[in-house]
This record gives sequence, structure tokens and C-alpha cells, in this order.
Amino acid sequence: MKIAPTVDVLSYMLDDVRKNHCCIGFVPTMGALHAGHLSLVKKAQQENDCVVVSVYVNPTQFNEPGDFNRYPRTLEQDILLLSQMEGAEQLVLFTPDDQQMYPEPDRRTFDFGKLEQVLEGAFRPGHFRGVAQVVSKLLMMVKPDVAYFGQKDYQQLLIIRKMTEMLSLPVQIVSCPIIREANGLAMSSRNERLNDRERQEASLIYETLRISEAWMKKDPAPGQVRERAIQRINEHPLFRVEYFEIVDRNSLMPTRNMTDLIACVAVFARDVRLIDNWIYDLSD
Ligand code: AMP
Repeated sequence: MKIAPTVDVLSYMLDDVRKNHCCIGFVPTMGALHAGHLSLVKKAQQENDCVVVSVYVNPTQFNEPGDFNRYPRTLEQDILLLSQMEGAEQLVLFTPDDQQMYPEPDRRTFDFGKLEQVLEGAFRPGHFRGVAQVVSKLLMMVKPDVAYFGQKDYQQLLIIRKMTEMLSLPVQIVSCPIIREANGLAMSSRNERLNDRERQEASLIYETLRISEAWMKKDPAPGQVRERAIQRINEHPLFRVEYFEIVDRNSLMPTRNMTDLIACVAVFARDVRLIDNWIYDLSD
């Protein structure tokens, strides 16, 4: 695996790849890599000749300074994990610093309409602006053919699709399934901040998403199912629901249409914020 600490070094490394008309895949991350991230890298490796993985903890997408400061930073471990992957010779790790990413403060705003006002957008003001800033910059630096994002951050995926359209960026955006721990908890760098009991019992989030699908099958009343799901999680002393919404999976708005629903949830375990979602299949 090669490591590019600056955009100049990265461009130099990728020039050769492009000269040979090879496809470049890109996986942007904030590091503290786990099997969820690695699944994106594996998919990118299968579909491209060269894969760039970036590790950068982007300050502009954190709406809370404490969350930014506490975010795990494990670059040495990340390097080890990536370099031990099969096909590591295809990998380029891009590790820009703040000076590379923001030589000037980024004052750009984006208008994603309703899409950025609901769910995460409602509870994390400015979050998607920061995401769009950093991802648009990274896409312009790496110039990949295809970029891979996890369905774990479902709203982010929709925002990035919209952003690439708005900016006419010539890149294909691919969505990858959520990778879960053995008990069903969606993998996340933030899980490292849970204690053993919290991490074990946080399976409640996944179980509630699954059960809510069954409730919807029996009686498709999203309002009532939402209430029951919130109650089920809040009954547990370790967890507190921030939101649980059942919405249309394209617009993220409430809908009467029962065919394209997704349940999205954010839950606090102490000060650790966990998000997850489940695409409903109500066909049988
Ligand atoms: P992050 O480092 O949290 O910004 O995540 C980088 C990328 O990995 C994003 O596209 C995430 O959606 C994706 N990702 C994070 N956790 C998972 C997971 N458990 N399963 C699949 N993709 C994930």
C-alpha cells in the first residue's frame, strides 16, 4: 500500500494509474477503521484497478466540539488493517491534514432543500454542509470513477448523490450494505466509546428496527409503530431515543405509500450517539 500525505503526492501516484486507463475507486472515511469500512474497500477493490482510501476527521461536519475532540484517531492501526488486506498493493491511503483540506476557510453553502432539514439534519445543524464541503473537496482531489458510501449513513448517501448532481461531478456513487456486529449493532467508530454492557445491550436498536418491520406488516400505521418503537428503546435505562422516523426512502418525508419505507433511528447511550436504519420489506 502507498501512502499519500498531500494532494500533490496523491496526484503524482494517480497519474500513472490514469495513463493506463485504469479505474479508480474511492472510499472516504474518518478513520478508526472497522469491518464496515473494510467492506467498502473490498467492494471498491472488486470493481476498480486502484482504490484510494482517505482518512481525515473533518472538523466542519461536527456540530459539537466535544464530539470532534473525542472522535477516535487510530492512524497506525488503520494503516496496519489496510496493509494486511488482500490486494493491498492496489491501495493508496490518502491522509491529508487541515492545511491540505482547508488552506482557506470553506464558506460554501449548499441548498439540499428538505433533505437536509429532517432526521440528522434536524438534530445536527450544519452537519451536512460540512459533509458536502469535505466530500466535494475530496472528490475533486481524487477524481475517482466511482465512490463508495455506507448505507449506515443513509441520509448522507442521499445528500452526496444530490451534491454530485448539483456540482456536475463526474463520479458514480455506490451504496454499500450495513455491516453489523454479531449482536446486530451497526458497526461504528463510536462503538469503541461504549462500555461492554452498553455495547452488548445496544443490540436493542437493531432488534427494535426489525420488530418495527413486523409491526408494520401486521398493521401498517407508521405513527403508532414509531411510538411503540420509541417506547421499547426508552424503557431500557441505558438508552434514550433522539428520533425514530418511518419515512419514504427517497425523499425522507412521511408518506402514505407503503412500498418504499425506511426506518431511521438515533439513540444516545450516555453521550455516545448511535445511528442505524432499516429498509422495510412489507411485501409478504
Ligand atoms: P465514517 O468513517 O464513519 O465517516 O464512515 C466512512 C464510510 O464508511 C461512510 O460511507 C459510512 O457510511 C461507511 N460505514 C461506516 N460504518 C459502516 C457500517 N457499519 N457498514 C457499512 N458502511 C459503514
